[in-house]
Amino acid sequence: MTSNSPVFLKENEENNSKFMEIQQLQTTSIVSEDPLQNLHLASQEVLQKAQQSGRSKCLQCGGSRMFYCYTCYVPVENVPVEQIPLVKLPLKVDIIKHPNETDGKSTAIHAKLLAPEFVNIYTYPCIPEYEEKNHEVALVFPGPKSVSIKDISFHLQKRMQNNVRSDNDDNDRPSIKRKKTEGEGGCELNDSNWKGTTLKKIIFIDSTWNQTNKIFSDERLQGLLQVELKSRKTCFWRHQKGKPDTFLSTIEAIYYFLVDYHTDLLKEKYVGQYDNLLFFYSFMYQLIKNAKCSGDKETRKLIH
Ligand SMILES: [Zn+2]
Repeated sequence: MTSNSPVFLKENEENNSKFMEIQQLQTTSIVSEDPLQNLHLASQEVLQKAQQSGRSKCLQCGGSRMFYCYTCYVPVENVPVEQIPLVKLPLKVDIIKHPNETDGKSTAIHAKLLAPEFVNIYTYPCIPEYEEKNHEVALVFPGPKSVSIKDISFHLQKRMQNNVRSDNDDNDRPSIKRKKTEGEGGCELNDSNWKGTTLKKIIFIDSTWNQTNKIFSDERLQGLLQVELKSRKTCFWRHQKGKPDTFLSTIEAIYYFLVDYHTDLLKEKYVGQYDNLLFFYSFMYQLIKNAKCSGDKETRKLIH
């Protein structure tokens, strides 16, 4: 590591080998095209300054952090919240993280920081009850039953019809599907409004692959429509060993889901509406990449 390495690298929260991360970056994406290159991003000057001045205090817990506090989900003192972009999402996002997952490594927090009104993070096994909403909620998970994003509405409408039918079939006994949750308005199961109902919430699992399977097999998630993302390569510097480079970090998965949702399901033109979800991610990616470049002339030649 050279003396002019970015502070971010020196500040790494974990004891993991920094060198390995950089090596992995080199092998996974530095020689391929850079999908983070043409994003419509807010000015990252605030991050540049914060990176130069080093760690700062979390105004909520007092912890010393770089850019943001991964336990309080807020930016630190030298990253004023009004200087980071606010992203509006077309639907709610729930993220379920495994309790063993290291908070400092998770990119799920980026979503909460940049779209706080739309994103909720839950720590497994404390997750919401989704069963009654299974006609307007879907889970991102690549499996044999997964459907593509463009087919989500079709499958949710089918569920809605089935729910109405099963309600009519057994009117006499209390149906679990009819039970109303207190404090929740929204869609009731009747013929007049089911046609307009489409996806309202998308769920992501934020953990390593083995842990993801464990969470996925929880019966509370089993009945949900499963959605598969189109295959894309990750830029993640903490890319998991032995996993294909199509295994995305959580913030990449959320971002790509939204881009496809916008174009394939809403059928609207995508002009960068959600690019700022990668505000932190692209900056950190660039830092790691620059560190690599400054220490390796051959690699620098390759990417210029
Ligand atoms: Zn904090």
